[in-house]
Amino acid sequence: MNAEIIAVGSELLLGQIANTNAQFLSKQLANIGVNVFYHTVVGDNSSRLKKALEVAEGRADFIIFTGGLGPTKDDLTKETIASHLGRGLIHDEDALKSIEQFFITTKRVMTENNRKQALVLEGSRVLPNDHGMAPGMILQEKERSYMLLPGPPKEMQPMYTVYGETAILNFLQPQDKIVSRVLRFFGIGESLLETEIEDLIDEQQNPTIAPLAADGEVTLRLTAKEKTEELANQLIKATEKKILDRVGQYFYGYDSTSLMQELFNDLQKRDLTLACAESLTGGLFQQEITSISGAGDVFKGGVVCYATEIKNRVLHVKQETLETKGAVSSATAIELAENVRDLLQADIGISFTGVAGPTEQEGKPVGMVFVGLSIAGRETQAVQLQLAGTRAGIRVRTVKHGCALLLN
Ligand code: ATP
Ligand code: MG
Repeated sequence: MNAEIIAVGSELLLGQIANTNAQFLSKQLANIGVNVFYHTVVGDNSSRLKKALEVAEGRADFIIFTGGLGPTKDDLTKETIASHLGRGLIHDEDALKSIEQFFITTKRVMTENNRKQALVLEGSRVLPNDHGMAPGMILQEKERSYMLLPGPPKEMQPMYTVYGETAILNFLQPQDKIVSRVLRFFGIGESLLETEIEDLIDEQQNPTIAPLAADGEVTLRLTAKEKTEELANQLIKATEKKILDRVGQYFYGYDSTSLMQELFNDLQKRDLTLACAESLTGGLFQQEITSISGAGDVFKGGVVCYATEIKNRVLHVKQETLETKGAVSSATAIELAENVRDLLQADIGISFTGVAGPTEQEGKPVGMVFVGLSIAGRETQAVQLQLAGTRAGIRVRTVKHGCALLLN
């Protein structure tokens, strides 16, 4: 089995973005023993894409496309492949439903273009998109297989990890059942996690263990192959247990869940409400929690108290605290968490204050962050973090730490 990856997108040819999709996929495919012999990049142009496809068919038996699955005129990967293979495009009911739901929820008008995103190649197996609208696909035509993945890495990587690899293995070995499960960890680095389970990774065969690090999280994908799904599941369970015996304290969920989703589930189950005061994260926590449907069950609201003056005037952090301890301090985080909880009458108040960078603030270094937690019946506390990375990375990881602290 040898593969070719065709990345579709004029931005790639213009040098505006690098082809990280091919890099990611090559690494993943190597893990499962698929040889990648060629990477091709082609612009958003149907006739050149068709040429690239014909060349690939002359030298590869598995062709993977990324990009061009979106709703706009320049997105033409599906259409080009459909006409090349002489297959129709049909609406995938599940994909259409989730797109329709999106427009109902957002009270926006759905256009024909948006419906186009739910079109899939006839006879293909659909790969759900948990992070966007365009579904992926895998299909077989004579001796050759084709896989179509979306362009945005944030959609493509989880789609491949959660659904794509299993689908490839099932295509390769249809007589066996292949089952994958993704274990998600937070609060432990990739290298430390790998060290903790090094011997398991070294002796891995069935299931295989594939680590992946992104956005301050580490995931392990276990893939087992057996005669029946039940047997494959048993293999996975046994290895999962060995892994969790060692690093279980960092584990938070399976497959395509997120820390925020787990936090939401947990609060909902315990019937608790949450309020939030955000300084350096500027609303990021609230944006994430409110993107979960049903957020209103647990989330009361929040205050973006970016300016020091607002911390005092709106959230009543004492002037003295701000002057003596500073806006970035555990004392301020504690007052913010208590006061926002009080103001919004929630069971839990959480606050974020810190230095996102790129320059230090109040003489405090970039990445110094305080998360305040005020929980009914408990003493309010602030947890100090020292995060590394860019401004964006620090903000994203601050929110994740907040979720993880509340989950504990
Ligand atoms: P959308 O629905 O967002 O339009 P799409 O599947 O049509 O998704 P493209 O329009 O081709 O994908 O690309 C969308 C974005 O994804 C690009 O602007 C770029 O940021 C990113 N992207 C696309 N291809 C690659 C690639 N090969 N490597 C890294 N990033 C990519
Ligand atoms: Mg697009």
